[in-house]
Amino acid sequence: MGMETGTNTLYSEVKCPHCGYAVKSGIGFRAGSLKQISYKLGEKLSWDGTKCRPAQRPPGGNLKTVGYFECDNLDCPTWQDCYPEVQEALITIQADIISDVKPFIHRPNELVFDIIEPKDVT
Ligand SMILES: [Zn+2]
Repeated sequence: MGMETGTNTLYSEVKCPHCGYAVKSGIGFRAGSLKQISYKLGEKLSWDGTKCRPAQRPPGGNLKTVGYFECDNLDCPTWQDCYPEVQEALITIQADIISDVKPFIHRPNELVFDIIEPKDVT
């Protein structure tokens, strides 16, 4: 998916909003320690090391950020010309725990890994 180095992956039960197929390839996101870490829901986000996003852990370890996934179902309407469209997901981190992920529409034509909350960090 052309992800930047260090992008983490969340493996979850999220379903494609277009066809309902469970996404198995994971959701790429850039928060906490950027070390290509694989997570599941309920796991603690790492802030180890110096390469973190945001640079400082937010107060309370609370964060919402946009991640990206592609549907694995070749018959999904998101597949065109052999490549799936990239879908957005909202990932919620509460007290450092990755607590929720759901399909989300934010800025569908960009791959910017926005941090939604807190609002004053990038
Ligand atoms: Zn799909």
